[in-house]
Parts: sequence; structure tokens; C-alpha cells
Amino acid sequence: MATIFSKIVKGEIPSYKIAENDNCYAFLDINPIAKGHTLVIPKKEVDYFFDMDDNLYHELLDFTKEIAAALKKTYNCKKVGMAVIGLDVNHAHIHLVPLNSTADMDFSKVTMKFTDEQFQEIAAEIRANL
Ligand code: AMP
Repeated sequence: MATIFSKIVKGEIPSYKIAENDNCYAFLDINPIAKGHTLVIPKKEVDYFFDMDDNLYHELLDFTKEIAAALKKTYNCKKVGMAVIGLDVNHAHIHLVPLNSTADMDFSKVTMKFTDEQFQEIAAEIRANL
């Protein structure tokens, strides 16, 4: 059965897209722990992040670097944090989170709520800095 992220890649489920290339796709996390919290995924379905083949793994990291640069520019944050968890969705993904303190990277905290319009605006401002 296709993962929810594969459905996003195919456009069967909507997402707030940031960018894509042939093999990778970036979109806003729908339950963000910070404004601009973005997920970066391989289009190919691989469950465990470290099972990706080397080429895809490296390409995903190169793509992630570009997205992180856009986040840094957009939010003028101290750093952009990167995390691999994958306990909820069985499709490899990287979380990118604008950071000003260690607490910003706390995945157990209550997530932020944004309207559809706000998510659209956030995605547009990040895309403008790519
Ligand atoms: P984890 O697998 O623990 O790394 O968490 C999966 C992440 O995917 C969570 O932060 C969810 O909020 C996020 N997520 C799940 N479904 C969607 C979706 N349809 N669009 C955007 N983000 C999602």
C-alpha cells in the first residue's frame, strides 16, 4: 500500500510544497513544531532512512541543503536543525526546523496551528528564498 507521502508526491493528497526535483520532494509538516518546519523526502518509497541506496541518500542530502538555506534566509534563525525520526510515517524523511534554541527542536511539544492560508503564505515565503 502506498505511503501517505507517496500520495503527496503523486498529488493524490495535497501538500504545501516547497520544492521538488526528479527524486526528492520538500513540503511543510502539517503539525509543525516551529514555523517553517519542513519535511524532505525521497520520491521513491523507502521505509527506513538509512536503507536508502547511496546515490539517493546523497542526492536527498544535497537537496536538503538547498531547502535548509532557504529556511535560514526566510527566518534569519541561528541555525536550521535536521532530524530523522520516522516512527509515525514509514517513508524516509528529514525534518528541517528553524532554530534559535535547543527547545525549538523538541518533537514532544504541542504543535503549532496554522490556517490553510497561513500555511500557503509560509510555503510561498520559503519558496521565494530558494
Ligand atoms: P515521524 O514519522 O515521527 O518522523 O513523523 C512524521 C511527520 O509527518 C509528523 O511530524 C507529521 O506531522 C508529518 N505528517 C504526517 N502526515 C502529513 C501530511 N499529510 N502532510 C504533512 N506532514 C505530515
